[in-house]
Amino acid sequence: MAETSIDSLKAVLAQKRASAEAQGQAIRFLKASGASPSEVESTLNSLKAMKVEVEVLSKELNSRVSENGGGNRDAFRQGVVNALERRLFYIPSFKIYRGVAGLYDYGPPGCAVKSNVLGFWREHFVLVENMLEVDCPCVTPEVVLKASGHVDKFTDLMVKDEKTGTCYRADHLLKDFCKDKLEKDLTLPEEKAMEYKRVMATLDDLSAKELGSKLKEYGIVAPDTKNPLSDPYPFNLMFATSIGPSGLSPGYMRPETAQGIFVNFKDLYYYNGNKLPFAAAQIGQAFRNEISPRQGLLRVREFTLAEIEHFVDPDDKSHPKFKDVSNLEFFMYPRDEQKEAKPFKKLQLGDAVKKGIINNETLGYFMGRTYLFMTSLGIDKERLRFRQHMANEMAHYAADCWDAEIESSYGWIECVGIADRSAYDLRAHTEKSGVQLVAQEKFAEPREVEKLVITPSKKEVGLVFKGNQKKVIEALEVMKEAEAMEVKANLEAKGEVEFFVCTLGQSVTLTKNMVSISKEKKKEHQKVFTPSVIEPSFGIGRIIYCLFEHSFYTRPNKAGDEQCNVFKFPPLVAPIKCTVFPLIQKPEYEEVAKLISKALTRARISHKIDITGTSIGKRYARTDELGVPFAITVDSSNSVTVRERDSKDQVRVSVDEVAAVVKDVTDGDSTWADILSRYPLHSSSSSDE
Ligand code: AMP
Repeated sequence: MAETSIDSLKAVLAQKRASAEAQGQAIRFLKASGASPSEVESTLNSLKAMKVEVEVLSKELNSRVSENGGGNRDAFRQGVVNALERRLFYIPSFKIYRGVAGLYDYGPPGCAVKSNVLGFWREHFVLVENMLEVDCPCVTPEVVLKASGHVDKFTDLMVKDEKTGTCYRADHLLKDFCKDKLEKDLTLPEEKAMEYKRVMATLDDLSAKELGSKLKEYGIVAPDTKNPLSDPYPFNLMFATSIGPSGLSPGYMRPETAQGIFVNFKDLYYYNGNKLPFAAAQIGQAFRNEISPRQGLLRVREFTLAEIEHFVDPDDKSHPKFKDVSNLEFFMYPRDEQKEAKPFKKLQLGDAVKKGIINNETLGYFMGRTYLFMTSLGIDKERLRFRQHMANEMAHYAADCWDAEIESSYGWIECVGIADRSAYDLRAHTEKSGVQLVAQEKFAEPREVEKLVITPSKKEVGLVFKGNQKKVIEALEVMKEAEAMEVKANLEAKGEVEFFVCTLGQSVTLTKNMVSISKEKKKEHQKVFTPSVIEPSFGIGRIIYCLFEHSFYTRPNKAGDEQCNVFKFPPLVAPIKCTVFPLIQKPEYEEVAKLISKALTRARISHKIDITGTSIGKRYARTDELGVPFAITVDSSNSVTVRERDSKDQVRVSVDEVAAVVKDVTDGDSTWADILSRYPLHSSSSSDE
């Protein structure tokens, strides 16, 4: 609603501005054509009235924008963060030493939520899909991360405040500048707005030089001091270390858990009976030395990743269980819609795969499962979308990639990346380690196949291209059939051909003696190939933070003089499932509370017993703020009340049954509506409720 009225205000403002401009032109024309002073004056007066209107509308728009986009969101976030910190969901790490940016501890309820989320992740993915879970070290030798490309390419472009040395991410400064202009500068001409939008859309593509010249062109300075900035330069995000005392064996803290799985592929494939497809999974810490972490728990320097590497035959990416999710409908933002700045829309998963919007069934299957995972945790399905990567965002080897993004007070946040990384990772480790990370498929009957054989002559290529010999040979070897046949035809017809070498970024002239290309018929008994990998990668901390925001609301207390905070976590996620309170301090009630607590412990229901004499309303408010879904109040020796957090409805249940009732509803075997229909409603006479 608010968005629509902002948009219509913008349209009216643009119209009024255009009319005022036309009126200004008219005055200039009247003056130039020698019109009478009274004529000029009356036109001038209406121009003044128009300007006042423009001014009023601008102010209105400004205040709506900050109310909607900035003010409200900031106030909401502050409310959430205050509640989270007060209740120790999380704590800035090393707080007594003034903390370290980008490092946070989970306190007791935060730890419980995280453990519940991870428990459910294991159940929803590892258990249901029979995944092979592994647990690899965080300290990783350099060679592994050299092969994966992280040592050379896992960088962000950084700029420094030239006077204080404070570091900033160059693309973030440029993005903030453009966003600020677009949101707040209401006099921005249309072409400038288009330019800023274009810059934001192509941020990932800008080289250090291009980024530097944009920062200069827009006069962007250090945000804290307004000092000039250095030119951008790449900063590797990995924490470097060395393994052992000699200092001779370099290593890094892993920036993702995936590499541990790739290097174990051969053993895992064997463990799986040499059969594809199969998936391996890993939950663990990842470390990224973010340049200037902001956005609280969303961008940190150490975080928990839960990653899946699903290995498939590149020629068959169908999924046997795709039909289980194909009817799901949820928000998707395909790249074509993004290119044309259209809004994201609800699509049916099966349709999206059929129409080729999503590259293959396996990728689609994981999107569907991820949607179910997120919504079961309590993420609002209206604020969850799957955004496809633009061609420029994807690594060159990736076949397709979708991010599950959740809308929070910081905007849309990437929480899960689901990528078809083709065979890149296994090939890279095969090449570096010399160990063949491949799969075989034995044919029932031998098959006659025509194979493309490309044999570069190392000697001839080396003689001409010297230091570039390896790159030229590699480029020749990976030619696809169509390109190879064209090169062959040209070499045969003209004796030479211009050949583009991607890794050199230029074309070279090949002659006939440098490569032989042919097609040969062969009988094959098996196919040996490098599997493709489909990788869903879950940023657990980001999901949890968004869950905090989506679960948070406030409501007035009974007296209406105070707002109470509530986290409406589903029982699955809630850090504590139930509280047990004697209504008043009375030894018999305390005895009953202890008995119920024992029964809950036996049923493995996490709970908290509170026998303080604090008023019952205050005790409810405290546990609502921890997101505890059920409260048992002991107000007699044989029956108690059970209260549901969000409706505040209470039912009366016998002492003997109550633990089983709470277990039933927290395990999801019954809903609260079932409980309401089974037990008598208790209308509260307590003044606190
Ligand atoms: P990436 O490998 O960069 O695609 O990251 C995988 C997932 O890790 C992302 O979808 C995020 O949820 C999460 N992530 C990446 N960087 C950070 C960070 N600095 N802090 C917290 N989570 C992160």
